[in-house]
Amino acid sequence: MARPPAARASLDYNKSNVSGKTFYLETFGCQMNAHDSEKVIGALMARGYEPVDTPAEAGLVLYNTCSIRDKAEQKVFHRLQQFQREAGKGKIFGVLGCVAQQEGERIFERAPHVSLVAGSASYTRLGEMLTQLEAGNRRVTGLSLDIDQAFETPFTRRDNPHRAYITIIEGCDKSCAYCVVPFTRGPERSRAGESVMAEARGLAERDYTEIQLLGQNVNSYRDPSPAGWDFATLLARVAEIPGIRRVRYTTSHPRDFGKSIVDAMDSNTAICDHVHLPAQSGSSRVLAAMDRLYTRDDYMRRIEWIKTAKRRYAITTDIIVGFPGETERDFEETLRLLDEVEYDSLFSFKYSPRPNTAALAMEDRIPEEEKQRRLVILQEKQRAIQIRRNAEWIGRTAEVLVEGRNPALGQWIGRTSDNRILNFTHPGGNGDSLAGRYMPVRVTRSGPNSLVGESASMV
Ligand code: SF4
Repeated sequence: MARPPAARASLDYNKSNVSGKTFYLETFGCQMNAHDSEKVIGALMARGYEPVDTPAEAGLVLYNTCSIRDKAEQKVFHRLQQFQREAGKGKIFGVLGCVAQQEGERIFERAPHVSLVAGSASYTRLGEMLTQLEAGNRRVTGLSLDIDQAFETPFTRRDNPHRAYITIIEGCDKSCAYCVVPFTRGPERSRAGESVMAEARGLAERDYTEIQLLGQNVNSYRDPSPAGWDFATLLARVAEIPGIRRVRYTTSHPRDFGKSIVDAMDSNTAICDHVHLPAQSGSSRVLAAMDRLYTRDDYMRRIEWIKTAKRRYAITTDIIVGFPGETERDFEETLRLLDEVEYDSLFSFKYSPRPNTAALAMEDRIPEEEKQRRLVILQEKQRAIQIRRNAEWIGRTAEVLVEGRNPALGQWIGRTSDNRILNFTHPGGNGDSLAGRYMPVRVTRSGPNSLVGESASMV
């Protein structure tokens, strides 16, 4: 799935009184983790904890971790080592998220100053775990995956004042051969449709205009209430909420991506012009080895639905190169997939062996330098495609949601419905904050990763 860079979740908050209960939380990994952190922060603040800007100032230091690749995991242990000496001074350390679930109590051996180890499936027990920590228990764990509920809290502390995440499904019932997620996040649990709707309506009332529906595989969403909505129905209902101008969703699994989703998108322009459909490989042979449950032809059928839809949708994907046994021919099929689909953007990764995954035992490993060579070829091909695709925008006008300002360039930063970054100038608007507004922008230039333009309105 799409993985934005790690974020320091506490940075947006005012520094506060450090004499009381204080915390610092750093987030690694995907949007699911970023949103989990928003919920954990909300729960902590509702309990009287105040966020601070650095681990040095905090009484409770938390790392919400990602184990999708070895590098992300190593980073967490490096962070923990950096502050090891602080533990003796009454500071409490906790590891949350995927590394916590994967490594479990081994973390206490590797980093003995850690007091809390909890996977995301245990966040429903967060209050109880905090009570134990506050009572002086220095070995608190939340590691059970035996759960049938999604984590819901009324206390989510959101990072962005205009765009809000809503988790609709947690966990994953697939077993892709390279992926740790079923092991770290547990089985699929969908939230009740009405609960999702109530959260979305509440956000609209508080002036949020963009909603991003989140899940490891949103396409397999099934409302557990008698209404029994599928994902396409939920998507359409959220998009009808007055005040909601944009709805996005991530991430999809091609096997569960039905035509009804494209029909729902076609029926309401509030659903953004963007589909992220992770292919992982263009070779049916490799897809079978990955246990992805679809062939290249199945995947291309879904691309066809999207390309023949009523509106024009941007298509993005994830690709893994160097999966065990991937031949030069398999890799060339992936390159051909890029040519056929002409993705608007892609996230590409070298295969990284992970514990508890089927691929770990597979033979015929691809040497690191070969993986790197393939990654470079893939990225160069995609760069050329993006240069071409983005150039098609020159002269067109797109509506952007303004996300902020780049003072160094004297430009505002906007995002189009199809998820392109469109930086633009706005005469006379430089002093006022346009953030959160929707504005038409005429595209004047393009590069491989973004567009440049000028405001088409004098707002
Ligand atoms: S669908 Fe596959 S890649 Fe995605 S989270 Fe589930 S197991 Fe991992």
